[in-house]
Amino acid sequence: MRVVVVGAGFSGIGMALALRRAGVGDVVVLERADDVGGVWRDNTYPGAACDVPSSLYSFSFARQRSWPRRYARQPDILAHLRRLAAPVRDLVRTGCEVAGASHGPGGWRVRLADGSVVEADVLISAVGQLSRPAVPDLPGRFGGPAFHSARWRHDVDLAGRRVAVIGTGASAVQFVPHLRRVAARVVVFQRTAPHVLPKPDAVTRSAPLLGGRVGRLGTWVAGEALTFALTRGPWSRSVVEAATALHRFWRVRDPVLRARLAPGAPAGCQRLLFSNDWYPALTSPDVDVVTERVTGLVESGVRTADGVVHEADVLVYGTGFAATDFLAPMEVRGAGGRLLSDEWAGGARAHLGITVPGFPNLFLLYGPNTNLGGNSVLTMVEAQIRYVVRVLRHFGGRPVEVRREVAEAFDAEVQRRLRHSVWTLCRSWYRDGERVTTNWPGQVAEYRLRTARADLADLRPVGG
Ligand code: NAP
Repeated sequence: MRVVVVGAGFSGIGMALALRRAGVGDVVVLERADDVGGVWRDNTYPGAACDVPSSLYSFSFARQRSWPRRYARQPDILAHLRRLAAPVRDLVRTGCEVAGASHGPGGWRVRLADGSVVEADVLISAVGQLSRPAVPDLPGRFGGPAFHSARWRHDVDLAGRRVAVIGTGASAVQFVPHLRRVAARVVVFQRTAPHVLPKPDAVTRSAPLLGGRVGRLGTWVAGEALTFALTRGPWSRSVVEAATALHRFWRVRDPVLRARLAPGAPAGCQRLLFSNDWYPALTSPDVDVVTERVTGLVESGVRTADGVVHEADVLVYGTGFAATDFLAPMEVRGAGGRLLSDEWAGGARAHLGITVPGFPNLFLLYGPNTNLGGNSVLTMVEAQIRYVVRVLRHFGGRPVEVRREVAEAFDAEVQRRLRHSVWTLCRSWYRDGERVTTNWPGQVAEYRLRTARADLADLRPVGG
């Protein structure tokens, strides 16, 4: 069986390792960049680190027990990924951007951007949810260097410059404190104030203990508890909100600034952030927080709704990713030439987040409704990897697709549970219009159980 995996980040490498260990398939991993690593290769902004504890930031089947810090930094995670990839590095073809794929009687024809074609029986997407930077289409033109946080321009010297930052999400809270130390002035444009908790980070001397089974289990249970608190209604959320309010009160003494940094939306509605230096950075005399809406760019800076031009030499977009355009811009066609983008016209959906009716032998890792608000996504991806191996072993690569009625019932259940979730209460990358398309409505334990026990009769063989 010929297997094509698209993407060599955590999911793609984990999938290749699992397939090789299971002795399943002739595998090739197509990676558009020149190295493995996914988001941890791309996000090199100063201060880039994980906000999920290190003990949960490796697959259980390829665990890294010892990390230099409780919350690993980007270089250490990328190094881990390169080590993880080493046993399957021979399967990875870098510099191969997939433009599209179509399923026909001979299986999948995967088209690369250079016009060549790779044929496969099985197509596994491991392209992630956060790989394509979103840059707002603002009117006007800024004269200086401007770049997105996931495409950091290390060649731009920021020392002594005035830097404008749009966005106050998980990336900005990490790089703004670093900018503050080198730049002459930083202006942060905040559209929505985030909930921020202190980050219990530390150099880990007791690393083996933390990275061992007990540490891993403890961290996982804590993540499940946080997910529970954030998703089970206003009462449990209010505990987290009280903690973030206390954190603000402790860190921001100026009541006027504190009021401007107070989130209007419930905790967990957007990603909960962890930082010890975000508020100290914003209270620094060299940093301004602007809450007026950004309306456009001019040669010398950023214009806001009140008509003020905020002068800057460099502009950094901390504006996140096109998370809900799953698999885009690849053009994927299933049975009868149907486009995946048409199948997903009302928002992306997939059975268990993995399979889509009408798209035989297409499997998605970290697909729709498998993101989390409070725990390590790797624990979800691992369950998906196991499921895919089980299916491929069982059917031996013969084309199968999920029964439409099964996929529709699953989607109806997921959306019913999400309808009253915290994620419907504000704007975020978790939503595509009214529909929450990225997040799983329950606990990780439930998802792992459901994927492990999923009835393979939910999949039916198809001709061709
Ligand atoms: P994000 O959370 O989507 O934040 C984007 C920020 O840009 C938000 O503050 C948003 O405001 C703002 N924004 C977007 N368009 C704007 C516009 N036109 N005008 C003004 N503001 C605008 O993106 P991110 O910070 O890159 O993080 C994305 C995700 O990556 C995170 O949620 C997390 O899952 C992951 N991440 C993880 C880590 C980690 O430690 N593991 C680190 C970084 C990122 P609104 O809130 O008003 O939309």
